[in-house]
Amino acid sequence: MNASLKPESLVRPADTERRARIDLAACHRLAARFGLSEGIDNHMTMLVPGYRDRFYLAPFGLHWSEIKAGDFMEVDFTGRRVAGAGPIEDTALYIHLPVHRLAPNARCVLHTHMPHATALGMLENPRLEMAVQSALGFHDDIAYDDHYNGLALAYAEGERMAAVLGEKSVLMLCNHGVLVTGANLPEAFERLYFLERAAQAQILALSTGRPLRKIPDAMVRATVEQFRTGSTVAGRERPELHFEALKRLLDRSEPDYAS
Ligand SMILES: [Zn+2]
Repeated sequence: MNASLKPESLVRPADTERRARIDLAACHRLAARFGLSEGIDNHMTMLVPGYRDRFYLAPFGLHWSEIKAGDFMEVDFTGRRVAGAGPIEDTALYIHLPVHRLAPNARCVLHTHMPHATALGMLENPRLEMAVQSALGFHDDIAYDDHYNGLALAYAEGERMAAVLGEKSVLMLCNHGVLVTGANLPEAFERLYFLERAAQAQILALSTGRPLRKIPDAMVRATVEQFRTGSTVAGRERPELHFEALKRLLDRSEPDYAS
């Protein structure tokens, strides 16, 4: 085959893939460290660099605290394992594959049952209220799936979730957990982390039994604009700086994540 005719997907820059695997392993380790994981369940996946139709997935059975960069399998959009070894758990296919395929901003799909965001989704009104600064970053960017539909055991369920998610980056799966998408892992992990923090603040405030003091709409909009214009520091994206700091934490205490 003439090299010039190779589709983009056949160009495999090893260093880019290596970095992607290290970052995805870091996401698992950090989620475990921050109490965002549950047993050996849930999945964090990302499209393989250079591809639009295959994603990295950790073999089922590993605890997130032990996942390494070299562990990830590659799964294509037919659900077939095309690289690596290990079991593929059903909901990884039935939730993550359709969301990667259908959601426009879903190079990364992080699904967790993290405690405070999940607790929020158990309430009669599950909305993340604009009552704390950390919630404002999610203004108008959360879709709510109000119809719990049992375990995701068919592609149709993930397709339904992708449709509810629409153009937003976060899907609150009521009575279940959350799905956070992103164009890259630093962005997706930052969203996951701060969603849990904002939900934690709301749950704590509600636990007093006193009403929430909501931020007026005009101030919400003005602050959202401040977030937008202040998204970089010295030319670097805030999520990148955050993720690098978090990886240094892993480098000091559990450097095997990158192996
Ligand atoms: Zn789940």
